[in-house]
Amino acid sequence: MIINHETLRTFAARLVAAGGSTPSEVAIVTDHLVEANLRGHDSHGVGMLVAYVRDFEAGTLHPNQKPEIVSDTGTISVWDARAGYGQVIARQAVEWAINTAREHGVAVNGLRNAHHIGRVGTYGEIAARAGMVSLHFVNVASGPPPVAPFRGKQGRFLTNPVCIAIPGTTANEPILLDFATSRVAMGKVRVAHNAGKPMLDGALLDHDGKPTTNPGVMYAEDRGVVLPFGEHKGSGLALICEILAGAIVGSASVSTNTPPERGIINGMLSIVIDPARLNNHDSMMAEIDSMIAWVKSAAPADPSLPVLIAGEPERIARADRIANGIEIDETTWTQLTDIAQRYQIAVPG
Ligand code: NAD
Repeated sequence: MIINHETLRTFAARLVAAGGSTPSEVAIVTDHLVEANLRGHDSHGVGMLVAYVRDFEAGTLHPNQKPEIVSDTGTISVWDARAGYGQVIARQAVEWAINTAREHGVAVNGLRNAHHIGRVGTYGEIAARAGMVSLHFVNVASGPPPVAPFRGKQGRFLTNPVCIAIPGTTANEPILLDFATSRVAMGKVRVAHNAGKPMLDGALLDHDGKPTTNPGVMYAEDRGVVLPFGEHKGSGLALICEILAGAIVGSASVSTNTPPERGIINGMLSIVIDPARLNNHDSMMAEIDSMIAWVKSAAPADPSLPVLIAGEPERIARADRIANGIEIDETTWTQLTDIAQRYQIAVPG
């Protein structure tokens, strides 16, 4: 199914609205999901609505939730999202951090218990657009953990993403590093499983700890595991995300609080820095441009695969998908249209 992004937006908005969200919540959540599809991250696109509908029907996702401000000492705040839409409350928390960093140079926000905040790069993009450097460490609590620690064959983490964003210059777009600490995001395993496609090598072990490319092992009764990226390094970063966004922020943690009936809960530690407090603006921008040019000047090992800067693949995907449409796999489309039928929502033809 190839669908135009505007048509998908209209359809997705009706599905979000079925949960009773206000028009502004519908707009933020829908925009976040469709923009994830446009950037090539189908794992965090409209396919997530299957889980969101499941969760608002089960009462584990609370539409139109207001965050509780647990503490605010001026430059450090802790918010509890009380299982409200992460896309809405994480955005508000990052906007608070941007405004605070503009005034004080730096701001730290601990966000507890948000329902799925989605593609973390969204928040890095918002901060970068405001001229801020930002770092985001996220943990996930949502049922049995699928990601094994280095050398393990049993899951101990979820996909605990990290995002670091650097503002753009007049010559270059922002640098946006945004990835799961697992070799692949779980949503990508779901997308491959739904599409009947194999996963890349080195991403999965079966129940016996043997390497496999079959995404089905994550849906079998004797479940396999997803590996961390970069062996001990990714495994270490996954642990740090869990501790920063779980233990230190005070959000639900994988070791103590993962009943699946809680839906998908994210904690996030965000650090937003006004770079103008650290260095002269013009020389900093010139150095960023020089560094990007230097990295991109490396001859590619394979001439058909140029060296890219983090954030570029998403911009390339976005231009392509705006022009040519977004491909939604058959299983995801059937799941979404089934929900639409239950809520008497028109399905695009
Ligand atoms: P990924 O493996 O596609 O990596 C994406 C990052 O790598 C981006 O910064 C991208 O620009 C960069 N990149 C990709 N190819 C590149 C290349 N050739 N050269 C240079 N840079 C390149 O992403 P992922 O790990 O599958 O994560 C996908 C999304 O899932 C992310 O947006 C992440 O925030 C999100 N996520 C969210 C949660 C959650 O609980 N909310 C959990 C896990 C992941």
